[in-house]
Parts: sequence; C-alpha cells; structure tokens
Amino acid sequence: MSRLDSFFTAALDRIDRAGQRRTLRPAALEGGGRIHRGGRVMVDFSSNDYLGLARHPLLIARARDWTEAHGTGSGASRLVTGTSEDHLALEARIARFKHAEAALIFASGWQANAAVIPALLATVPGAAVFTDRLIHASMHAGLAISGTRQHRFRHNDLDHLEELLAGKGAQAPARLILTESVFSMDGDRADIARLADIAERHQAFLFVDEAHATGVLGPSGAGLSALVPGGIDLIMGTFSKALGGFGAYVAGSRVMIDYLVNAASGFIFTTAPPPAVLGAIDAALDLVPGMDAERAHLAALGEHLRGGLATLGIDHGASSTQIVPAVIGPEAAALDLSRKLEEQGLLASAIRPPTVPPGTSRLRLALRATHSRADVDSLLNTIEACR
Ligand SMILES: *Cc1c(COP(=O)(O)O)cnc(C)c1O
Repeated sequence: MSRLDSFFTAALDRIDRAGQRRTLRPAALEGGGRIHRGGRVMVDFSSNDYLGLARHPLLIARARDWTEAHGTGSGASRLVTGTSEDHLALEARIARFKHAEAALIFASGWQANAAVIPALLATVPGAAVFTDRLIHASMHAGLAISGTRQHRFRHNDLDHLEELLAGKGAQAPARLILTESVFSMDGDRADIARLADIAERHQAFLFVDEAHATGVLGPSGAGLSALVPGGIDLIMGTFSKALGGFGAYVAGSRVMIDYLVNAASGFIFTTAPPPAVLGAIDAALDLVPGMDAERAHLAALGEHLRGGLATLGIDHGASSTQIVPAVIGPEAAALDLSRKLEEQGLLASAIRPPTVPPGTSRLRLALRATHSRADVDSLLNTIEACR
C-alpha cells in the first residue's frame, strides 16, 4: 500500500471507464517475423524489428564479446568516467553514416528528444517552434520541459507550415521546425526535400526524427535525411527499431554536438550506455548498409499489403513504408478485429485514442524483412474472414 493509492485507484477507474486501461503482457521475439506470447508462437505484425536484427547472430555475438571484454556496466555518466573508446568510435561512425560532422549517443530515443529539445531552446529565448501535428510524445515531452509554446501545422501540410512560418515566425529571433521522416502510426513520409528548402528560405532550424526510417529507407538505409545532405540541422534516430538494439543518436554540426554535451540534461545526468548495447549497435552498423535486398523485400511486402487492404476496402491512409495502418474506425471494431486475428495466430495490435484521433482506430501493421509474402497473404485472408 502507498499513501497515495486512493488517488491512483481513482485515476485508474477513470481510465477504465474510458475503456483505455492498458496492461503489460509478456512476449518474446522469435526468428522469422514470429513472436512468442501466451504460450504460443504467432506471426508478429506489431514489433519494430524491421530488419530482423534483434536476433541476428552477429549482434548477439558482439554484445557478448564486448561484455566479456569490458563488463556489464559503464560505471558512470559520459562526462565523468563513462566515455569509452567505443563510444567515441561509434559516434564517429554514426556521423559518417548520417553524413554529419558529429553525432552523440543517448540511452533511448525518448530520452534524446526529451533532453535535446530543451537544451536547444535554452540558447535561443523567444524562438518560434513549428511542429507537425503527429510528432512523437517524446518531442512533446521535450517541448513541455522547455516551456515553449508550439505552432502546430496540419500533418505533412507544408503549405500550412509555410503560412505559419511567414506569420508567427517572421518576427521571432529564431525558428525551429520539428518533424519525423516516417510517422510511427501512419507509415507515411515527410517531404524531406521540400522541408529542407523551406528551412533554407525561412532560415529555420530543421529537426527530423528518423526513428522509423533509420536502417530501412534512404541510400544504404541511412534514412531519408541522406537524400538532402547538409539540409537538416539535427537528425535524431534510434538503434531500437530497425537496428535491433537499444539507444539513440543525434547527428549534426560539431558545435551543436559539443554544446549538447554541455547542456542536455538527459545526456549529462545519466549513466553511459554499456558495452553490450554498444556492441550490438556496432554489429548492426556493419550489416545495415549491405541490406538492400532486405529493404527491397520490405518495400515489396508493403506494396503487397496495401494492395490487399485496398481490395478489401480498408483504408491504409498515406502509408508508403513498412508501417501500414489498417484504419477500421470505431475503437470497438478495431479491438475486435485485433482479438480475432490473435485467435488465428496473428499479432496485430489495435491502436486507439488517445494515441490516434477518435474515429481512426486501426491495426498498426509493422512489416519485417523476415516476413514472407505468404505471411502477408495469410494476414489479408484472415482479416477478410474475420470481418
Ligand atoms: C520509438 C520512437 C522514439 C523513442 O525511441 P526509443 O529508443 O524507443 O525510446 C522517438 N521518436 C519516434 C518517432 C519513435 O517512434
């Protein structure tokens, strides 16, 4: 019992009444795009291990080797004694991969966004911040910490962004644009080339979250930012999705990275990522540039799934990536379909408000390079049978 349990119980009751109670259910990734849950193995359309690297032998071996060589813990924060040769070598490697001057590793993507955004805004008082309506919760956390009001533009509506920049941005001492290159719930892309052009014309700092693009899209899987070298001021991405490991990075100018080392609370006051995590990242960076065949297969699976959903009359929004929403509409219908699929051995999580707007409850289908075309066909056939 805690002394505040009556408050927590009341809060949970409110969540229950709204039908939004969430609970934790154990699961374990298996090979071949499968997952072990509830005592059986299912085809997994819910995890973000897009290239199947989370169980790759090279990542496992290097995480083990680096642990054996250096131990399980890093001992301290980066600025104290936590920086190893491996941290510095990996950061140089990530900077090259992202065509940036420098890079910095963070413990997680959430932590990177929540730490970097307030650090950036602390240097430019009065900066005007422009955000896509669908940016990730971690960027909102960073903005909330900084106490900055955001000007939100309609999702991927860059005309609206330009209007806001010209209006609210003109008088501000600095302008920042925050968006994602691939949106996590919709699987659509931002027009990165146009964003870079807008940033240039409005002299706005451009921040792009590549959590779902890193490893999957762009030349050598370097993300969509690689299409506009030098056009993005700060690129953020994670090692926890396509790269099959854990942690995150930001990449940009040397001066900015040096500043973040001195100003980002979530970098300074947290223990450095340990050897096992670094080893897995290093191995993933060995593999990812050579995985064009896996990326092409993933893209083809996406096309196949979208085609199949369209045939069934199910809206897949503007998806053009490995993330394909099957928009069902009412919350109850999406949950019901998800449950029926699970009974048939297919894991496709229902995503509902408040994560997505009311009336757009969906299955968020995440494809993996380890899925076969037959896996997608079985998903489509089962969806058809269940509706
Ligand atoms: C997953 C995600 C993050 C958080 O990354 P973690 O490493 O999982 O903390 C940040 N931004 C976006 C867009 C994401 O999808």
